[in-house]
Amino acid sequence: MSNKKTIEAIIAPPAPHMVGDGFRVHNFFPGGQIDKRRMSPFFMLDYGSKIEFTPSVEPRGVGVHPHAGFETVTIAYHGKIAHHDSAGNSGIIGEGDVQWMTAGSGLLHKEYHEENFSKSGGLFQMVQLWVNLPAKDKKTTPKYQEVTNKMMGRHYLAHKESFIEVIAGEFNGTKGAATTFTPIQVYNAKLKKGSKVTLNFPANYNTGLLVIEGAAKFNDNDIATDHFALFKNEGEEIEIEAIEDTIILVLSGEPINEPIAAYGPFLMNTWAEVEEAIESVSRGKFGVLEN
Ligand code: MN
Repeated sequence: MSNKKTIEAIIAPPAPHMVGDGFRVHNFFPGGQIDKRRMSPFFMLDYGSKIEFTPSVEPRGVGVHPHAGFETVTIAYHGKIAHHDSAGNSGIIGEGDVQWMTAGSGLLHKEYHEENFSKSGGLFQMVQLWVNLPAKDKKTTPKYQEVTNKMMGRHYLAHKESFIEVIAGEFNGTKGAATTFTPIQVYNAKLKKGSKVTLNFPANYNTGLLVIEGAAKFNDNDIATDHFALFKNEGEEIEIEAIEDTIILVLSGEPINEPIAAYGPFLMNTWAEVEEAIESVSRGKFGVLEN
């Protein structure tokens, strides 16, 4: 019997919506064919496909808002994004960089196009993932990991210039730079036309691949640019073959089998915890951050 994972669904990019005035995103999940548990520990995937922003003196983005109970992971493919939070962390990420923010017990943050990028305008492409935290770590102290492209593990493949960039987890002994609370694999597979790689994840890990650039075959199924492939929880192997030069975001993780109470920017186990988070914000317990 084949040990290959089978594709459960190939999902075209849903109609985009704006998050603030700076992020035009396709929400692949939760929703549609992927409910709030299906890709656990990944709760949300917002994909900002390529868009040209005109120059703007006022940086576009999202003003101060709270988060609690999970982690926001922002991956920049084109353009620059600035971050500030009430835990005192800030940073700017550019092409190829990642910010991995643990909201945990709760904080306020704001997300904007970086000032100079805003003034010049240009090509913008990004991903924001929400990674759930298990109950035991829901109230962990907020943390900010700036994972620059240089910090990521790179595993070069037989085909020269093709490699797996390990953001979190591990690929064939090459470790990622971000620390996580549960077992998670997040890679960018950056493959030149014609090159192949085989990925291997436990059958029970929820696994999905998003084609950021170019096109590829996943276990002999053609997947086009901006499409997401969801895999069944059977088999372990995914063979990727680059039809063109391609970049593929690879997500795989051990499911967190706990209750989910999701409301706006909060991702808790119970509704009582959601109410507590809302009250904490109104009492100023998530700190102070100016717009
Ligand atoms: Mn946010």
